[in-house]
Amino acid sequence: MNDRSELLSQLPLRENLRGLSPYGAPQIDVPIQLNVNENTHPLPTSVVDAIAQEVAKAATTLNRYPDREFTELRELLADYLGHNLDRENIWAANGSNEILQQILQAFGGPGRSLLSFVPTYSMYPLLASGTDTQFIAGTRAEDFTLSAESAAAQVRTHRPNVIFLCSPNNPTGTALGLDVIQAVYEVASETKAIVVVDEAYAEFSLANTKSALTLLDGRQRLIISRTMSKAFGLAGARVGYLAAAPEVTDAIRLVRLPYHLSAVTQATAIAALKNIDLLLAQVEEIKTQRDRIVTRLTELGLKPSVSDSNFVFFGGLEDPHTIWQGLLDAGIIVRDNGIKGTLRVTAGTESETTAFLEHLATLLGAQK
Ligand SMILES: *Cc1c(COP(=O)(O)O)cnc(C)c1O
Repeated sequence: MNDRSELLSQLPLRENLRGLSPYGAPQIDVPIQLNVNENTHPLPTSVVDAIAQEVAKAATTLNRYPDREFTELRELLADYLGHNLDRENIWAANGSNEILQQILQAFGGPGRSLLSFVPTYSMYPLLASGTDTQFIAGTRAEDFTLSAESAAAQVRTHRPNVIFLCSPNNPTGTALGLDVIQAVYEVASETKAIVVVDEAYAEFSLANTKSALTLLDGRQRLIISRTMSKAFGLAGARVGYLAAAPEVTDAIRLVRLPYHLSAVTQATAIAALKNIDLLLAQVEEIKTQRDRIVTRLTELGLKPSVSDSNFVFFGGLEDPHTIWQGLLDAGIIVRDNGIKGTLRVTAGTESETTAFLEHLATLLGAQK
């Protein structure tokens, strides 16, 4: 134990936080950063200008609290999502991580449980501990897929209060069939559990993958979580949002901090959404690079998973850590999620993707 963790252990910390580590994907300043699934393209200059203008306007009213209901932002988000949603169906927060935390504050908590299916987004167990919700690690098939039967059976066994379904799943990249979500919701109805579908990467889905937004109508306890961090290229702005029945947003109003979305955040998100076409222009290009990675990794004898996202999870590596280090030495950082024989890489620009694929091929050749 180092000095600081010794000192930490002396504090009267809640029991369920003892021994935990904070979320910590390495932030290493190398030229090619493909480890946290950001949109690596810089924002178009015209969008930067539009944001700067809107933020400047907001700056003149910073002596006042912002619109607590962020009405204009909710309207723009509802328009973006479509599916007959209106602002009453929308809630937003500082990143979808805060959305998920608020959901657990309202529907989880002491004596309650959250079920998810691992490997999945590493923040879920941390959000559970932070809200004193018991985390139940459900399982997937050997190839990391999740069938409707298996998911429904696990919900029936564990009777959780909240279920997080990550689709497409991080770190494996594959979306769930709507049959899985429907089956989980149906079993969850027996115990009135909340079902959350985390669609952080929905904009990158393959052509025949359907969003769970199509299932919202008539399902009171279904929540779809989205973010502006990935496809929109706005990870730094910290804006996530959800779509659900209006009464779900009322439940979340009970736990949100007053004025939690700053005037600057609202102005940024509003300006971005008014330029949505420009922002999303890079999505197709990123998908092209994503598909290129899948094809090339297969040629290299590796085993990439089907990807509905802006990243590729691949197995077949004998020594992932050495490859990870070799790439880092070449100025390229990818993600080692600690899953045996695998790594995960974000689809970046064409030249970033080329650099990654070429260095990887060299490193693999050197290992033979
Ligand atoms: C990146 C990511 C998010 C986004 O988090 P923000 O707080 O919106 O930046 C949410 N869920 C998953 C599964 C992710 O990979």
